[in-house]
Amino acid sequence: MSVEKIFNNTEIAFQLKNDSELERAYFLFKMISHQPLVRIGTAATNFALKANLPVEGLIRSTVFDHFCGGVNEDDCLPVIEKMHSKGVSSVLDYSVEGKESEEQFDNALNKTLEIINFAEQKVAMPIAVFKPTGFGRIYLYEKKGLRLDFTNDEELEWNRVVGRYDEACKLAKEKDVLILIDAEESWMQDAADAIVDDMMKKYNTEKPIVFNTLQTYRWDRLDYLKHIQKRAKNEGFKLGMKIVRGAYMEKERERADEKGYPSPICRNKQATDENFNNVLTYILDNLSDISLFIGTHNEESSYLAMEIMLKKNISINDNRVWFGQLYGMSDHISFNLATAGYNVAKYVPFGPVKDVMPYLIRRAEENTSVAGQTSRELNLIKQERKRRKI
Ligand SMILES: Cc1cc2nc3c(=O)[nH]c(=O)nc-3n(C[C@H](O)[C@H](O)[C@H](O)COP(=O)(O)OP(=O)(O)OC[C@H]3O[C@@H](n4cnc5c(N)ncnc54)[C@H](O)[C@@H]3O)c2cc1C
Repeated sequence: MSVEKIFNNTEIAFQLKNDSELERAYFLFKMISHQPLVRIGTAATNFALKANLPVEGLIRSTVFDHFCGGVNEDDCLPVIEKMHSKGVSSVLDYSVEGKESEEQFDNALNKTLEIINFAEQKVAMPIAVFKPTGFGRIYLYEKKGLRLDFTNDEELEWNRVVGRYDEACKLAKEKDVLILIDAEESWMQDAADAIVDDMMKKYNTEKPIVFNTLQTYRWDRLDYLKHIQKRAKNEGFKLGMKIVRGAYMEKERERADEKGYPSPICRNKQATDENFNNVLTYILDNLSDISLFIGTHNEESSYLAMEIMLKKNISINDNRVWFGQLYGMSDHISFNLATAGYNVAKYVPFGPVKDVMPYLIRRAEENTSVAGQTSRELNLIKQERKRRKI
C-alpha cells in the first residue's frame, strides 16, 4: 500500500499564478540560485535601506511580493481568499524582526491579538503564529536559559514577556484558533520552551491550542519531546507540535565554534533528515497525545507523512495533522496536498518592507545554500511554462 506521487502536477501547483506571476517567480528563483548574487544583493539592499535610498519599490515588486502577502493584514486578504478557494488555509505571520523595545514588543502582541480576532471570523485562517523574540529581548531569554539571576528590572521585564505569551494564548483558546509559537536560536530556546510548556499546560486542557516548535536539525529534540510528553501525561494536558528542520544552522555552528561548545546541530543533512522523519513518525504514532503541524518543503518527508497516515488509517483530513509551507515556496506540495484533501496552511508573512528584510534574506539564503530546493522550484516552474507554452 503506498500513496500516489502527487507533487509533480504543476497545473495544480501553479493554478493561482497568472503567466506574468509565473515569469516573475522564474526570474526570481533563477537570480537567487546564484549564491554570490544573493550575497551582493543582500549587502547592497541593507546598505540602500540604511542610507534611505529609494529601493523599496524594487524590493516590493520582486522578492517582497513573491514571499509576502503585503504590508498589513488587509493587503493579505485577496491572497488568503484565493488560496482558500483551492483548499489552502493561511497563517498570517507578522514578520517584523530584530526589534528590541518594550513598545515594539507590545506592538507585536497587539498584532498577534488582532490576527487572532481576525482569524476567528475567517474559516480561511484557523491558525495564528508568533515568534518568541517578537515578545522579548533575546538577551533575557538567554540569561533565563542559563539560570543566571535577573536584576529587579529584568525580573519585571521578564514577567511582561510571559504576560504577552499568556495574553496571546488565552485569546487563542477563547476564539478557538490554534496558535503556533516559532522556534529560534538554541541559546534562547530553553527559556522559550519553558514558557510554552506552561502555556500548553494552562490552555491545552481539552485539546491542543498552543503548539511549540521542534527544530529537528537539533539532535536533542526527540528527547525533549519525550520529556514533555511525560509531563503532559502526568499533569493532564495535550501537546501540539510544529516540526521543522530549522533555519539558523550557519549561525548555530559559527557560535558553537567561536565559544567552543559542541554544536547542537546534526552532523550533516542526512542526519537532520533522519531526525525529522523519526520525530514525524514518533508523533504520528502518538497522535492521541500530540497534534502535529508539519512545516516542510521536503517532498520525501511529506510523502512519508502521507504513507504513515495511510498505513495507520489516519483520515487524510484528521484535524490533528496539518501540513504547512511558506508563502512563495513549494506550491507544488501545498496545492497538490490540498487538492487531495489534506489539511494545508501556508504562512503568509506581512509587515513593512524594511522590517521584513531579515525574513526575506533568510528565504533567499535558504534557497541558495540548500542544494536542491531552488533547482526543484525552478524545474517545476520551467515545466509549467512549457505546459502553458510561454
Ligand atoms: C510552515 C513553516 C514554518 C517554519 N517555522 C520555523 C520555525 O519556527 N523555526 C525555524 O527555525 N524554522 C522554521 N521554518 C523553516 C525551516 O526550519 C527550514 O528552514 C525550511 O523549511 C527548509 O527545510 P525543509 O524541511 O523544507 O527541507 P530541506 O530543504 O530538505 O532541508 C533544508 C534544511 O535542512 C537542514 N540542513 C541543511 N544542510 C544541513 C547540514 N549540512 N547539516 C545539518 N542540517 C542541514 C537545515 O535545517 C535546512 O534548513 C519553517 C518552515 C515552514 C515551511
